[in-house]
Amino acid sequence: MIIKLKNSTTPEQKQQLISWAEGLGVSVCTVVGAVDTLLGFIGDTSHIDEEQLEAMDFVAAVQRIQAPYKKANRNFHPQDTVISVGGAAIGGRPPVVIAGPCSVESEEQICEVALAVKKAGANILRGGAFKPRTSPYAFQGLRQDGIKLLLEAKQVSGLPIVTEIMDISQLDLFNDVDIIQVGARNMQNFELLKELGKIRKPILLKRGLANTLEELLMSAEYIMSGGNEQVILCERGIRTFERSTRNTLDLSAIPVLKSLSHLPVIVDPSHATGKAHLVPPMSLAAIAAGADGLIIEVHNNPGRALCDGQQSLTPQAFAELKQSIDKVAAALC
Ligand code: PEP
Ligand code: MN
Repeated sequence: MIIKLKNSTTPEQKQQLISWAEGLGVSVCTVVGAVDTLLGFIGDTSHIDEEQLEAMDFVAAVQRIQAPYKKANRNFHPQDTVISVGGAAIGGRPPVVIAGPCSVESEEQICEVALAVKKAGANILRGGAFKPRTSPYAFQGLRQDGIKLLLEAKQVSGLPIVTEIMDISQLDLFNDVDIIQVGARNMQNFELLKELGKIRKPILLKRGLANTLEELLMSAEYIMSGGNEQVILCERGIRTFERSTRNTLDLSAIPVLKSLSHLPVIVDPSHATGKAHLVPPMSLAAIAAGADGLIIEVHNNPGRALCDGQQSLTPQAFAELKQSIDKVAAALC
């Protein structure tokens, strides 16, 4: 429920209303905009009488929110959320570019890729240490050692890092990681999301293979309702009947999510398409559709990658793509 206050509302009247709502078991968030002040009542508001609120002479309007997500809802928070990581502003302009290998494989590999993507203009380095693989026989990631190597690449390149967590027992290893990724397969691991709500670090939340946008926003709500409001949404393709791409990139998810939510929305064209030659056109399309950024797999030797080589760009191809991304982003300004 959203309550718009009249400009003449005194701080005492506002506080009185907040205390009244809290006394009814509802938590209240306040949004002070350039023109209006809004109070968002979060929780079970079914027993609150709209007419009683409207009768208060400092209340300008009352609106019930039907959507089940509140903290992630743009109605409660009209301005875009911008998440600062290192020097990058995710959710602002220009769009951020995250790049790096699917998996951290060796010191040489991750440091070489880190320096190459940094030189090409990437803002953040990616690299998986804990890998969710379909087959238990496939490379599972270097795990703890992978995080150590990623931290080394962070030092060497100066880039902030993002890497995936698969279980909350791994959290202590993530102290110096800048953004924690929750992968598509864990989007509805509610116990993990609840625990990540207790920390104060940006979370990159990927859309599940077969999840709706409302389900994605409800998963963001799990993290945000715990108090961690720094959530970055990621469209990474969904499972459809189409077999010519690894997944189907749902580009319309970008404007839909941006209209429903204030959270930043980025796109992963690598996992969405599964093919390196499809990554550049879909990256540009995502930026043109309003994405706040991209996460792109880059490997210094894609043919020998231990994971997802077929969808990884070479550093050279990434550098060329980055120039085109900049042109599309500039054209949108
Ligand atoms: C990844 O980014 O390495 C990954 C496994 O992606 P997703 O969870 O989208 O499949
Ligand atoms: Mn991958």
